[in-house]
Amino acid sequence: MKIGVLDIQGSVEEHILMLKKCGIEPVSVKTSEDLKGLKGLIIPGGESTTIGKLLKRFGLFDEIIERAGKGMAIWGTCAGAILLAKNVVGEEGKIAVESLGLMNICIERNAYGRQVDSFETEIEFCFFGKNRGAKTRKIPAVFIRAPKIVSVGSGAKVLARDGAEVVAVLQGKFLATTFHPEMTDDLSVHQFFGAICGGI
Ligand code: GLN
Repeated sequence: MKIGVLDIQGSVEEHILMLKKCGIEPVSVKTSEDLKGLKGLIIPGGESTTIGKLLKRFGLFDEIIERAGKGMAIWGTCAGAILLAKNVVGEEGKIAVESLGLMNICIERNAYGRQVDSFETEIEFCFFGKNRGAKTRKIPAVFIRAPKIVSVGSGAKVLARDGAEVVAVLQGKFLATTFHPEMTDDLSVHQFFGAICGGI
């Protein structure tokens, strides 16, 4: 099974390495051609305004939305989660993010404030599968200038929280995490995305 990693900016190499460790063939995605035959796509962390703009410039923006509509799974980590959100808030007076708007969530960028821009913790993650039920496990989570998912709409299921904050949401084949599993040794979220892509 091939899973793409959007290779525009951000933590691309880390995701590619994690997929390899899971026995999944990673594909670096720079053009719409690269999307052909992919079961899923990871949109990594980075700078959401930049990634959004470059998606448009590289002709990937509409193509990703179209393929998502035809069943391609997408996982966005941090900036990637922002790009999946239908609503991005707290942007007054700043450069607006051109988000793909595929997930029924509202997200606020850089919402943890400066003093706690980045931190590492452990969270309970619910590995939910339509055909597998739900299994909850503790995993390490790295937050880097992370956004907050401030509301979750219909069809979207909360998979993990850190305290009161929602940090992982699943909607059909779309997964958003505000943290970075690719910056840890724990493969479980990558394996989970592999299962989503495989329809398990
Ligand atoms: N702060 C970044 C943004 O708003 C996201 C940070 C990240 O992806 N680690 O786009």
